[in-house]
Amino acid sequence: MWVVQIEDYVKAGKIVSEVREMVREKNWVGKTVYEICEEVEGEIRKRGAKCAFPVNTSINEIAAHYTAEPNDEITILDTDLIKIDLGAQINGYIADTAVTVCYDPQYDNLVQAAEDALQHAMSMIKIGVKARDVGRTIEKIIKQRGFKPIANLSGHSLDQYTIHAGKSIPNIWSIGSFSLSGEVAYACEPFVTTSEGLGFVKEGKVKNIFAMVSRKKTKNEEADEMLDFIWENFNMLPFALRWLVKKWEGGKARELLEFLIKKKTVKAYPILVEANSQRVAQAEHTFIPTDTGVTVTTIA
Ligand code: MN
Ligand code: MN
Repeated sequence: MWVVQIEDYVKAGKIVSEVREMVREKNWVGKTVYEICEEVEGEIRKRGAKCAFPVNTSINEIAAHYTAEPNDEITILDTDLIKIDLGAQINGYIADTAVTVCYDPQYDNLVQAAEDALQHAMSMIKIGVKARDVGRTIEKIIKQRGFKPIANLSGHSLDQYTIHAGKSIPNIWSIGSFSLSGEVAYACEPFVTTSEGLGFVKEGKVKNIFAMVSRKKTKNEEADEMLDFIWENFNMLPFALRWLVKKWEGGKARELLEFLIKKKTVKAYPILVEANSQRVAQAEHTFIPTDTGVTVTTIA
C-alpha cells in the first residue's frame, strides 16, 4: 500500500516542481494575481494533476493564505516580493511547495535565507530525526543571517486529502519529542522576516480560501448542490471562489458560499500577516524520510 502512495506523492511532486521552476523564472511584474493563479493552476492541471489548494499569491507582509478573488486586479509591482505557494494531488496524495519571487534587490538576502534554511533542514532529515531539531536548524540558519523566523507558522505532516495531518515541523526550536516517520510525507516551510519584524503572524480581515468541514444538509437546495459540488471536486481540500464561478454566476456563488459558511459546513481561512507589517519570504518542499536520508518529492 505505502509503495503505491509513494508513487502518487512522487508524481504530484514532479509536477509541482516543474511548475515552481517556471514560476521562479518568469517575470510577473505587471500581471494581476488573478492571472498568476489561473496560469499556475492551469500548468498543474495540464500535467495531469489536480490542484491540492488554490495557488497562494501572498505579497510582501502577507505571509500566507491569499489567493486571487474572481477578476482580482491586484497587480505585481517592480518592488514587490511574492510568495507563490502551489500544490498538486494525485488520488489525494499531495505535493506542497513554494517559491518567493522578489523584484527588490534589497530583499534578495531575505529570500536566500528561507532557501538556505530549507536546504539545511532537508540535508538533516532521515527516519527518527526529531522535528524540534529540524526547527532548531531552521532558526539557527535564519538568525545567522540577521533575520527572524516566523515562530507561529510551521511545516506539517500530509495525508490523503489532508494538508495539515496533525504533526508540525516548527521553524524554531520547540518542545515536543515527535520524530519523523518513514511512512509519512511532510512539508517543511521556513518563513523569514526582517529584524524589524515581530517574527509571528496574525490573522488579517481578508478571507478568500475555503474548505468543507461537514457534509450535513442545509435544507437549502441550491446550497446543498454547491456543497455536493465542493465534495465531488475538492473533497475536504481548500478551494477558492474562483473555482465556483465557473459553475455559478459570481454574485450567486458568493451568496451561496456565505450561506454555507454561516451554516458551518464550510470554513474560511483568513490571510496571515506579519505582526509588524514586515516583509516575509518563504521556501517549501514536500519530503518522505528514509533510513539513510530523504526523498524530496518536490525536486524534479
Ligand atoms: Mn504550501
Ligand atoms: Mn505547506
